[in-house]
Amino acid sequence: AILPGAMVNGQPATLGVMGGGQLGRMFVHAAQAMGYFTAVLDPDTASPAGLVSHHHIQTDYLDEQGLAQLMQRCAAITTEFENVPAPALMTLGAQRPVAPGAEAVAIAQDRAAEKAHFVRCGVPVAPHAVIATPAQLAAVGDDLLPGILKTARMGYDGKGQIRVKTREELTAAWDQLKNVPCVLEKMLPLQAECSVIVARGADGQIVNFPVQLNLHREGILAVTSVYEGAVPAELVAQAVAATRAIAEGIHYVGVLCVEFFILEGGQLVVNEMAPRPHNSGHYTMNACDQSQFELQVRTLAGLPLTQPRQHSPAIMLNLLGDLWPEGGAPAWDKVLALPGTHLHLYGKLSARPGRKMGHLNITGATPEAVRATALQAAALLG
Ligand code: ADP
Ligand code: MG
Repeated sequence: AILPGAMVNGQPATLGVMGGGQLGRMFVHAAQAMGYFTAVLDPDTASPAGLVSHHHIQTDYLDEQGLAQLMQRCAAITTEFENVPAPALMTLGAQRPVAPGAEAVAIAQDRAAEKAHFVRCGVPVAPHAVIATPAQLAAVGDDLLPGILKTARMGYDGKGQIRVKTREELTAAWDQLKNVPCVLEKMLPLQAECSVIVARGADGQIVNFPVQLNLHREGILAVTSVYEGAVPAELVAQAVAATRAIAEGIHYVGVLCVEFFILEGGQLVVNEMAPRPHNSGHYTMNACDQSQFELQVRTLAGLPLTQPRQHSPAIMLNLLGDLWPEGGAPAWDKVLALPGTHLHLYGKLSARPGRKMGHLNITGATPEAVRATALQAAALLG
């Protein structure tokens, strides 16, 4: 294990992260709280994580000197976004512990590979077809329509997706996506969406957070609710078992989030996975005895894992740039006057519509109290 506060190769024990977004920032905060030094590699001079880290290496993700500097500084390295180039992780992994590893990240980067892995694990997926060639396009069965055409790589927050009803729309959509490899998924009747976050150590020890109920708006997570009864009890056990199987099936090391659909008939279908902490796990920062970022630190450093315990019902509201008045800030003074509100902002200086600026965690004694406070906060934020 890399012990906090120890000296490693003549330097204070330092943990590194590829990517300087908000997830990296919250990882850095958790690592620093335990006494680690941190290093962030991100080309953006004002990246949210770079701004708060001991070291900020400002190079491209594939820059050899940047990667060499990161390895020189760090005893172990993690990632905060799934599109970190796999070759960069392989370079780092040859010399330092890297979690999650390049193979796991490569699977999560590709919707087709990801779905094949879910099927191997025996977890139901949406009916789908891979479309990488005109022949595959022609061979698509009508049973997949209406459907959603998604680029196999680089999609996030609903980007790189087109809904199609007919074969003509499908052909046009694939052209619009520049004929890159895609996955066509049958449009399913969703009752709700949920997610599960697990953390798994290099020794195979695995722990999980509770099942999270997620509400999206325009393809972006808007609200996460986590309390007794938010997700039907019979689905909770299924979702946790499926997530653990998915992590174990790739000998995953680190924090992994798996997203599920709950269909109108009540069946659980796996959607996608993220090889990192996830927006739907931000409530853990205030509602659990350990946050998802603390577990990321522990898995990376090889520290013991214990099953996290949720000590309060919780609702998380995502704070998008749309809430910011021109040149000002939302009415935090009024929002923070509500009991059990915890504000987390990511240090982003310009608020654009759709941009994730922060989140508001709400805790309380009962689900009813938390829901009432969330409604009041949402009304104040407009
Ligand atoms: P992203 O990587 O952008 O999060 P997702 O595949 O999770 O992409 O899709 C974003 C959202 O679109 C989902 O959270 C869900 O609300 C909706 N969606 C995606 N696939 C389907 C589907 N097959 N049937 C119905 N809704 C879907
Ligand atoms: Mg998603």
